[in-house]
Amino acid sequence: MIKNLIFISIFTLFTASNIVAADYPIINPVPGGIAAVDLGSSFSPSTKVFFGKKRVLIKSDNNKTTWQALIGLPLKIKPGKHKISFIDDDGTKKYKTFSVSKKDYETRHITITNKRMVSPTKKDIERHYKEKPLIIAALKKWTENNDIQTNFIYPVDGRFSSIFGLKRIYNKQKRIRRHTGLDIAAPQGTNIIAPAKGTVIRTGSYFFTGNTVFIDHGQGLVTMYCHLNKTHVKAGQHLKQGQNIGTVGMTGRVSGPHLHWVVSLNNTKVDPKLFIPENIPEK
Ligand code: ZN
Repeated sequence: MIKNLIFISIFTLFTASNIVAADYPIINPVPGGIAAVDLGSSFSPSTKVFFGKKRVLIKSDNNKTTWQALIGLPLKIKPGKHKISFIDDDGTKKYKTFSVSKKDYETRHITITNKRMVSPTKKDIERHYKEKPLIIAALKKWTENNDIQTNFIYPVDGRFSSIFGLKRIYNKQKRIRRHTGLDIAAPQGTNIIAPAKGTVIRTGSYFFTGNTVFIDHGQGLVTMYCHLNKTHVKAGQHLKQGQNIGTVGMTGRVSGPHLHWVVSLNNTKVDPKLFIPENIPEK
């Protein structure tokens, strides 16, 4: 799998000649990954591009001569051909196709002793249903912005205690739950920083995710930080890359202090590691 990723990254570096690699996420068109589609030389940057009904991020090279759509691919997507669409300047609907490859994710059995967290009470579920629309709305956030930083830094230093995409089975229940973030374990109180510039969408305390911060990076690229001990930012606040947003904690459904980090692209949770340039091998 790692070999595959390296191969794809090198392939991308050599084929997408006008792209400055450091400015782009790692393109890995698999479930939970990112596809890049060239929009052609006549593409006008004011055009809205869609994957199904979801608008997708477009990014240019430094000279603004070529544009690409960067598409977040859901874990449930079927491998094979898929398409994006847009209305061209002459009013015709255009399609561009791309291929999604297969990816197998690991399965892990997890035992949680706090029964309330595995099987929440009626009251907990009622609370969750009140909170859910707020979380959904934050992840759907779209702002027009052509200056998006997609070369992230890790929000916290620590061990990856659970990787993105993992198939998790809690307490031998039949249901498989996909892990849609990256868990970074660190002592309670460790500083968490913004991985890229952005604006705080909202902060709050939720049943499952505990103290949570949402950051809007522009054009449907949204990041989410869960289980915080302390939150140091407020909604509407502009953030620089590296700015402190809070500290690692164990609020919400957790078995130990860690950051559950979510990266959402076109309202689709993708592997956060794809945004860290150090995961791209040196040429
Ligand atoms: Zn997690």
